[in-house]
Amino acid sequence: MKPQISSSGPLAQTAFQRNGAGLLCCDGLPLSEVSKTFGTPTYVYSERTIVEAFQRFTQAASGRNTLICYALKANSSLGVIRLLAAQGAGFDIVSLGELQRVIAAGGQADRIVFSGVGKTQAEIAAALQAGIKCINVESAAELEMVAQTAGQLNTVAPISLRVNPDIDAQTHPYISTGLKDNKFGIPMDQAETVYRRAQALPSISIQGIDCHIGSQITSLAPFIDALSRVLALADRLAAAGITLHHLDLGGGLGICYDQETPPAPQALLDAVFARLADWQHTRATPLPEVLFEFGRAIVGNAGVLLTRVELLKPSEHKNFAIIDAAMNDLMRPALYEAWHAVELVAPATTNTKRWDLVGPVCESGDWIARDRELGLAQGDLLAILSAGAYGMSMSSNYNSRPRAAEVLVDREGRAHLIRRREEFSDLIGPERIPDHLRG
Ligand SMILES: *Cc1c(COP(=O)(O)O)cnc(C)c1O
Repeated sequence: MKPQISSSGPLAQTAFQRNGAGLLCCDGLPLSEVSKTFGTPTYVYSERTIVEAFQRFTQAASGRNTLICYALKANSSLGVIRLLAAQGAGFDIVSLGELQRVIAAGGQADRIVFSGVGKTQAEIAAALQAGIKCINVESAAELEMVAQTAGQLNTVAPISLRVNPDIDAQTHPYISTGLKDNKFGIPMDQAETVYRRAQALPSISIQGIDCHIGSQITSLAPFIDALSRVLALADRLAAAGITLHHLDLGGGLGICYDQETPPAPQALLDAVFARLADWQHTRATPLPEVLFEFGRAIVGNAGVLLTRVELLKPSEHKNFAIIDAAMNDLMRPALYEAWHAVELVAPATTNTKRWDLVGPVCESGDWIARDRELGLAQGDLLAILSAGAYGMSMSSNYNSRPRAAEVLVDREGRAHLIRRREEFSDLIGPERIPDHLRG
């Protein structure tokens, strides 16, 4: 975590710029207008930015045999899924709920890959019945479960094995997934045995190999190191007569929250395909299809969390600004000590002080930003930047707080409500007071 931050740095998010009156806008629409219509806290997404971020991957992939999947867990709002489905995205899902979201939003099942260490038999059955592209199997036990489920359904399950390449993605430990101490994937030294077992199972069809080493990765090396290990395994499998139709290299490309300089999609794909060309030219087989599963890099910088300053609590040691967004709305600071830039929507009306921005939740971990030089007054509107990924999708109702609204701003600067603010009835809808307590 960084000791002292000014909020006045360059905006990493090009969609969010100030207009002539100094008001922070989303593609020309002042965020103050969004708050007037929809209230706060509200997530605001730029449609243009999401599409452009996705297109940076498809352009980098053009002329190459690839499928760019969107990892739904970064932001699983139906409006966002629909937008990306219309762009031809594939989807990486980790639960039945996410499968149902893709279908509900009009996405194609045959472009879905299903990841995750703990798929249930019901989830596997639903995925097979929907006709998804591939199940990314994460353990020998899961392989047996998939085979048995497919057998019962009288079908053949398309699978890849997610291997754990034991690569340090040099990111936060909670979002590192490709180390042998992590729970994810099949250890490299067991992978060949599990593939041989897969090949012997009549209800299993081996499609490919999969790895995903972590999130918010800001250099090329971990991706290329993981690819090299995957290719070495592919060679051993080829020698054993096991053909791979695709290589799924996962997601994890980072974004700029502050000063990070992650590789551009073009640089990443160029490096991946250079490594692949190098590998392929000594092999007789054609290059398999290459899949990616990006989440954060597609939506992260396309969204802000709009929030209002409720109360100011300055003191000798520390100045607290209590805002109407909290850890239940944006969990990343509490969970990873993540840093998000903060901008006043309107120009400051008071002198700056150093503030901690905290929510109303009864936890000391409930902070959104710390030690920020801002000129805050009660009632001011703030934008928490780079909140498009792992914001709303990680939100909860802790402290019986209704979840925030979500707004998508189109290219013409028109705001569309894509999720209304929750109401009390949404909170208690599934609950029952048992008869014996009713008296
Ligand atoms: C979370 C996840 C992704 C997406 O990660 P990003 O860092 O958002 O790109 C991709 N694949 C799998 C298996 C994941 O768990």
